[in-house]
Amino acid sequence: RTWPSDRVRQVFMDFFRERGHVFVPSSPVVPHEDPTLLFTNAGMNQFKPQFLGRVDPRSPLYSVKRAYNSQKCIRAGGKHNDLDDVGRDTYHHTFFEMLGNWSFGDYFKAEAIAWAWQLLTEVYGIPGERLYATYFGGDDALQLPADEETRALWLRHLPPGRVLPFGVKDNFWEMGETGPCGPCTEIHYDRVDGRDSAAGAPLVNAGDPSLMEVWNVVLIQYNREPDGSLRRLPARHVDTGMGFERLCSVLQGTDSNYDTDVFAPLFAAIQCETGCSAPYGGRVGRDDAEGVDMAYRVVADHIRTLSFAIADGAVPSNEGRGYVLRRILRRAVRYGQQFLQAPQGFFHRLVPVLVQRLQHVFPELAAKQDMIMTVLADEESSFGLTLKRGLERFRVTANALQAAGQTVLPGHEAFFLYDSMGFPLDLTQILAEERGMTVDAAGYQEEMARQKAQSAAAHRAKMGNAGQLVLGAEQLAALGQRGVPLTDDSSKYVW
Ligand code: ATP
Ligand code: MG
Ligand code: MG
Ligand code: MG
Repeated sequence: RTWPSDRVRQVFMDFFRERGHVFVPSSPVVPHEDPTLLFTNAGMNQFKPQFLGRVDPRSPLYSVKRAYNSQKCIRAGGKHNDLDDVGRDTYHHTFFEMLGNWSFGDYFKAEAIAWAWQLLTEVYGIPGERLYATYFGGDDALQLPADEETRALWLRHLPPGRVLPFGVKDNFWEMGETGPCGPCTEIHYDRVDGRDSAAGAPLVNAGDPSLMEVWNVVLIQYNREPDGSLRRLPARHVDTGMGFERLCSVLQGTDSNYDTDVFAPLFAAIQCETGCSAPYGGRVGRDDAEGVDMAYRVVADHIRTLSFAIADGAVPSNEGRGYVLRRILRRAVRYGQQFLQAPQGFFHRLVPVLVQRLQHVFPELAAKQDMIMTVLADEESSFGLTLKRGLERFRVTANALQAAGQTVLPGHEAFFLYDSMGFPLDLTQILAEERGMTVDAAGYQEEMARQKAQSAAAHRAKMGNAGQLVLGAEQLAALGQRGVPLTDDSSKYVW
């Protein structure tokens, strides 16, 4: 049996529907009703009232005890922020689907674990020898005991060397600073055939792409209160989340989420719209010396994130959620231009392929297609103007620093690129990294704090200085710019 992604999703849904679960559609990826969250980061977000025992009795969900869906998630800010990994690795996206099943005060760990095992091994046919399970090993400071019950449940299926305890970081799941939470048990998949447990075990939760976390089963029993304490909830719940793109890569036998039918149509569209001579080649890290494949991954990931966020009512802007989106767009456009030679305007033209591919699952995409494209095209063209000038500015500054034997870009320069050229810090950091330089991020933050603290008038006066670049006549000529001569050194000009 082969596993196209649409079948993978459908089989998950069928499995839990047959076990008495009700389909509750994905909530928007923009949590309009939850001020504690930047973006929806897990399937459980919309079920906070269920876990807290606060569902309105008039709600159609009041009597629902078991639910399932595929939830749209964005992890690009807040407690779960994967933005910096995206493009560099093969299994973190900023936008992904999370397949989930829930019990609201109904079944607990025994059923949740038995069904997870059955679905993965019997239905999807994943060999059990490729799987590891983790459980919560306890925490003295939090006065939480190890979850021996879960360990025993896994030992029915797996040998002891494949059932591993971990601490709070990996096996106590929390959505944010506050909210429902609890110990969890996770399933990890070894992409390498025939590796023995002793060699595989150290790679679990170690950031190794060959041994990847697939499914998290959270046993929700607490609420993290605003004062940081854990309050025991009146009932115990099950909240699971499985990365859909990761599962597809496992079932399609690939080494990377990106080498699946989830991303293939997007890569084809990217090649078409950028005119890049090379198709996506799947190389990572040092093998991807030109950065072309990383750029493909960044662009493919980010068009998904932006399209879904805009469809759900967010727009790029200067603050909060909108600022995160603006940064993501700029990262994508800049990667496209630099590594794929993308022309201005390529990014929004990727939207139709995405819509076509996923509209049967998320119909809001098709309904909002025109709006998404307009917003992206506007944002892209305004960024295009600053990008060109900013890259040039960076090049000249970095050249001057390197000629003087320096490797750190000062904080005020990074801040100028941010404030006047719209370069997010991570973009400047990427540019610096490419030349073997670093950015004084602390200095940048200081500049930022200073700017915030100053009155508007003082701020304007200051930016008049910080924004100036002193150049020699040749450098100016190379830029095709005219400067104002410095009063105390007429061989130098201010640009
Ligand atoms: P990881 O340790 O790999 O970063 P996580 O522990 O942060 O994952 P959870 O919060 O447990 O992830 O989320 C549940 C599941 O969602 C994970 O087991 C994984 O399959 C999937 N997932 C999490 N983050 C991402 C992501 N950035 N991109 C794709 N899938 C993800
Ligand atoms: Mg993570
Ligand atoms: Mg993890
Ligand atoms: Mg996890």
